[in-house]
Amino acid sequence: MIELRTPAEIIEMQAAGAFVADTLAALKARAAVGMNLLELDAYAHTLIRQRGAESCYLDYAPSFGSGPFGYVLCTSVNDAVLHGKPHDYTLADGDLLTLDFAASVDGWVADSAVSVVVGTARAEDLALIQLTEDALAAGIAAAVVGNKIGDISHAIGSLAEAAGLRVNLDFGGHGVGRTMHGDPHVANNGRPGRGYPLRPGLVIAIEPWFLQGTDKLKTDRDGWTLRSADGSRGAHSEHTIAITETGPLVLTRPRPAA
Ligand code: MG
Ligand code: MG
Repeated sequence: MIELRTPAEIIEMQAAGAFVADTLAALKARAAVGMNLLELDAYAHTLIRQRGAESCYLDYAPSFGSGPFGYVLCTSVNDAVLHGKPHDYTLADGDLLTLDFAASVDGWVADSAVSVVVGTARAEDLALIQLTEDALAAGIAAAVVGNKIGDISHAIGSLAEAAGLRVNLDFGGHGVGRTMHGDPHVANNGRPGRGYPLRPGLVIAIEPWFLQGTDKLKTDRDGWTLRSADGSRGAHSEHTIAITETGPLVLTRPRPAA
């Protein structure tokens, strides 16, 4: 079921968006050579406690994972791209790290992800990250009243295809509200003019993620972490946005440092 939020509810949701944005910015600043994934997760957990927020991941046990997740942050490194379960791994020079974080503040969820390279970057990794960010921006630009979900999907997918990449349609964006994953599904490729019409009050996560060499995934033995089937690297970029009469409002947009 698709739920629409009132303007007052969208204002309430901005607190969750700001917390998720600030947490990801703090984690990104800490992501460096020598940092352990478990330390990043523990730090995120500290920030959740300090804020009085609730993790969307800790007890999460969906059909596609071997739940409960047990951590508050997804950390996907190199050929891992989605749902990376934090483990005892110390980041090394050139690692491509995706941080995906969702939390609830005052009963509203926000969900956002970012990919970064720690240390010395390979040009192709920076290009892949840039492509996911460009695709996210294109998807957000298409998230206007009068368009349909398919227009967002098409905006994302056509950028990937222009870069010669195949798009996996199994995992994509989703409705966001009191819980993390709701309707509608927002695929990362699709036909323009199709699907649910975008209405004011629709709040969705848009989250392009691409792999350098394939659109196929395999699951780690931890039951969660999704890796490329061919060992190529992946990147992921996500924001939670609200569709309003005056255009898309990015709830998880990073704020300038105070
Ligand atoms: Mg996410
Ligand atoms: Mg999401």
